[in-house]
Amino acid sequence: MNKHLSQLIEIANLDKEIDSFEPRIKEAKKELNLIEKEEDKLNHQIEEFNMTSNDISLSIQKNENHLEDLSLKLEEIANKTKLIKTEKESKALSLEEELAKEQITFANEEIARLNGILENKKEALKELEESIKALQNNKKEIAQKVEAEVQKVKDEQKEIFTQKEALVGKMDQKIISFYEKIRKWAKNTSVVPVTRQACGGCFIRLNDKIYSDVIRSDDITTCPHCGRILYNEN
Ligand SMILES: [Zn+2]
Repeated sequence: MNKHLSQLIEIANLDKEIDSFEPRIKEAKKELNLIEKEEDKLNHQIEEFNMTSNDISLSIQKNENHLEDLSLKLEEIANKTKLIKTEKESKALSLEEELAKEQITFANEEIARLNGILENKKEALKELEESIKALQNNKKEIAQKVEAEVQKVKDEQKEIFTQKEALVGKMDQKIISFYEKIRKWAKNTSVVPVTRQACGGCFIRLNDKIYSDVIRSDDITTCPHCGRILYNEN
């Protein structure tokens, strides 16, 4: 086989290998990405819980303030009761007193109800925080595994790059730039084998003349239909 052609086949194979590294790195990081997503979700939930708990605490505070006002009001009513002169006044005051006491009962019930919710939220928050802790431990382990895997791929990548560099150094620069031009559009199918007298890139049948050129491999032959570099696999 023509030396330039065999070098082209070799460099095309190296380029294919180089292109396979990025997807491998991505694949290795997939598991870690999933865990990070889950962690984000949990953090978001915790944030929401904290916000709701804050709102509830504020409502409790409001009810407590209201209770204070109501007890002042009761005191006021008690003082007024001492000064009552008529039956009508007395009725009005006891009505007011009743109303204030009802409101006190209601506020106390509301505070109890809100405290119940707050307790539940705190309980759930604790669980969430435990889940996130477990997740973070798991993440640490996976991150180490991924890092090792990525490093392995990068080492391989470096090795292939070194091989490619050495090959490029040996090759005719015109041939390299010819190949690079094809590679711009044909990517990893720039140098293709011929199967059953058809181009392995565009699959169009080659005429007998081109086909015998490919089989002889004395020179670099390109597909007359698509322009890819052809070689005979056998
Ligand atoms: Zn073709």
